Amino acid sequence: MNLHKYATHALMQITPRPPIVFVKGEGSWLWDHSGKRYLDFIQGWAVNCLGHSPPAVVDAISRQARELITPSPAYYNDIAIELAAELTELSGLDQVFFTNCGAEANEGAIKLARKYGALHRDGAYEIITFDGAFHGRTLATMSASGKRAFEPLFEPKVPGFPKAQLNDMASVERCISPKTIAVMLEPIQGEAGVMPATDQFLRDLRALTEKRRLLLILDEIQTGIGRTGKVFHYEHVGIKPDILTLGKGLGGGVPLAALLSTKAVSCFAHGDQGGTFNGNPLMCAAGLAVLAEVSPESFLSSVTEKGVMLTTSLVKLAKRYGLGEVRGRGLLQALALGKPVATEVAAKAFEAGLLLNAPRPDSLRFMPSLTLARVEIEQMAAILDEVLGKMTKVA
Ligand code: PLP
Repeated sequence: MNLHKYATHALMQITPRPPIVFVKGEGSWLWDHSGKRYLDFIQGWAVNCLGHSPPAVVDAISRQARELITPSPAYYNDIAIELAAELTELSGLDQVFFTNCGAEANEGAIKLARKYGALHRDGAYEIITFDGAFHGRTLATMSASGKRAFEPLFEPKVPGFPKAQLNDMASVERCISPKTIAVMLEPIQGEAGVMPATDQFLRDLRALTEKRRLLLILDEIQTGIGRTGKVFHYEHVGIKPDILTLGKGLGGGVPLAALLSTKAVSCFAHGDQGGTFNGNPLMCAAGLAVLAEVSPESFLSSVTEKGVMLTTSLVKLAKRYGLGEVRGRGLLQALALGKPVATEVAAKAFEAGLLLNAPRPDSLRFMPSLTLARVEIEQMAAILDEVLGKMTKVA
């Protein structure tokens, strides 16, 4: 098949893309325009928790498309109500606002915290966030993010996001002022290269925020929906946030995200928040199908078990080639390479038919489908072994 039939120049160039076009996906595999097959350990950036085109999601959206696609968020619909009930039951939080992407969920979380500050804390509006954090690409969520590359962009940023250091409680305390309303973080900083907050840090943060009457906002857009072996990462730690954001895996590949909060914090008044497509039953049907697959204990323990397999195979490679640490939890992991060669390794893996992400110059990230077969972990490790072996010979 000829690549030139695709008019790629009509798309805005927002990132470097390889000269191929994907046309089909199934489970852990993708096919490009020429018929070449790739083993996918990126999965739409940790989105396709059930793999590409999973039957459960395909069936749910096909069925729902025939019933009702969108009645307007100005009216209730049965599927959004059902999904909200399911999410509140699973999370222990009380109310949900559905959004179309993670950034929009985080933007809503920031607005909700600011509204709460306006109503209950003398107008406190500052939200402490963290160096290395990634919360999205709207102007407020870029301002909340602690990504160096964002710093010079789109100035002036939205004010009110002092930055602390992950796993450093003293740095958080230094940021607290009378204007502070919340602390917001990812339990594992995904885009920063899979940098985990320790369980103790998360517990201490919960205790500190309670003591200082601050809200705790957890961005579980990457870590939620089974990715780490629990439906929500905070279950590993035994804490509960005041505000929680979800996205990525929630829709199993379709645009669906959510903002959840406790009843005490859920203070939007009519007109404060909304959006044309928010809570449409087509996307919510996908969310229900995903939760039905992901939330059973047997599914979650299979994620944990495959996570251990993935760690074992990465540690083996790290030992063989004298690489660095393996970080992460469940099926969100990184391999530190010890040298700034991650982009080159990912490019060579791509040529060999393996999709891997290099979130930082010295680290590879692994975020496969939660349903991947055990043999696919072995296949990934074999390809990576070959790539690393060839690179070592050249070096
Ligand atoms: N928050 C986290 C932790 C993320 O990993 C991402 C996306 O990578 C976002 C927010 C933004 O989500 P979206 O790209 O759906 O807007």
